[in-house]
Amino acid sequence: MPDRTIASSPAATRGRACRYWIAREARRCGTTSGVRPYIAGPRCPRHTPAALAGQPEPGNTLHEHNAFPKEATA
Ligand SMILES: [Zn+2]
Repeated sequence: MPDRTIASSPAATRGRACRYWIAREARRCGTTSGVRPYIAGPRCPRHTPAALAGQPEPGNTLHEHNAFPKEATA
């Protein structure tokens, strides 16, 4: 079996491309860089639910919950 991956295969990118529907352009975003899974589906950084709502990424607030003592870092 050939030891290689077919990066250009539709199946390879399926599920990893931003699925945000750009109504004005009548197409999906389709960006594959920086895509992360969300409840609504894979989304690129520009089309996360938070980004669309004009809110900061929820992930950024996790640091507040897991805050390290600032004194510990010299
Ligand atoms: Zn997108």
